[in-house]
Amino acid sequence: MSGRPLNIVLLGPPGGGKGTQSQRIQQRFGAVPISSGQMLRAAVRTGSELGRKAKTILESGALVPDEIIIDMIAARIAEPDCAKGFILDGFPRTLPQAQALDRLLAARGLRLSHVIELRVDDAALIDRISGRFSCSRCGTGYHDRHQPPKKPGVCDVCGSTEFTRRADDNADTVRARLEAYHAQTTPILPYYDRQGVLKIVDGMAEIDRVSAQIMQALNGN
Ligand code: AMP
Repeated sequence: MSGRPLNIVLLGPPGGGKGTQSQRIQQRFGAVPISSGQMLRAAVRTGSELGRKAKTILESGALVPDEIIIDMIAARIAEPDCAKGFILDGFPRTLPQAQALDRLLAARGLRLSHVIELRVDDAALIDRISGRFSCSRCGTGYHDRHQPPKKPGVCDVCGSTEFTRRADDNADTVRARLEAYHAQTTPILPYYDRQGVLKIVDGMAEIDRVSAQIMQALNGN
């Protein structure tokens, strides 16, 4: 690949595999994964002003107001590590966020190199989300049925025995999150399609197959 940093947006419904694939893109290309949901959950844990504003919204499955999230991402993208390229996971989620991102990047002389949509059926998402958990120490994602740790109770990557489940991974909140995705996020797709940066990947395939499709898209094949 060329030396140009990859500035990527991963789009797709909750449970669509964005977190897993974002880690794999990081391993391959060195771009920095930025998960807006993870940043908000960290803010809730530390009890910052942002966290206090976001807490009840996260629990409901609705979206946090655009201006809050745009400011958060603007600050993150300005950090020096993002010069290596970045993978946005969970942002943008509305058309105003997508437009704001373009303006933020243009102001830094940057643009998105790729937007990848992971396409997954709603029924499969409910099943994926209801069984997922992650390592409390290194964040590696697992699933009770589809991707358990090789040794039960021990993280494959860092050996930790502590795991966590997200509070918003329950049936009611998942339904609200899927509705928010269909109503507010899918309208972004034609916006990126018009810019000629959108690639659609079959997110229903087995995890390694999904990664292979993404790597192919990123290598420009
Ligand atoms: P995620 O981890 O991406 O599934 O995000 C978890 C929750 O954080 C969402 O259900 C929203 O409440 C909130 N959130 C994350 N990213 C955004 C965003 N770009 N815009 C608005 N709300 C967001």
